[in-house]
Amino acid sequence: MPTARYRCAACGNLTRFDVTVTRRTRAFHHFSLGGDLAIEDEEVLAETVEEVSCRWCGSSRAVEEAPAAQVEAADPAAQVES
Ligand SMILES: [Zn+2]
Repeated sequence: MPTARYRCAACGNLTRFDVTVTRRTRAFHHFSLGGDLAIEDEEVLAETVEEVSCRWCGSSRAVEEAPAAQVEAADPAAQVES
C-alpha cells in the first residue's frame, strides 16, 4: 500500500508533519506466566487521519495530500543527488 505524502502549500515543506491519527486495532496479547506482555499480530481494522499540520509553520489548513511520485519530483533533496 503506497503511503500518502504531504505538502504544505504555505511554506513548501515536504518532509516534516505532525499527523494525528485515530486507529482501531486488534492484537494478540501474549502474557508470560510472570505477567510480562508481548503484543503480537497487530491488525489495523480502521484508520482515520484526523489532522495533518506543518511542523515548520504550524499550518494545518495549507497541508495537502500529494501522490508520492509528484512529491519526489518536486523535492529539492532528490534533485541534488541526481
Ligand atoms: Zn508549512
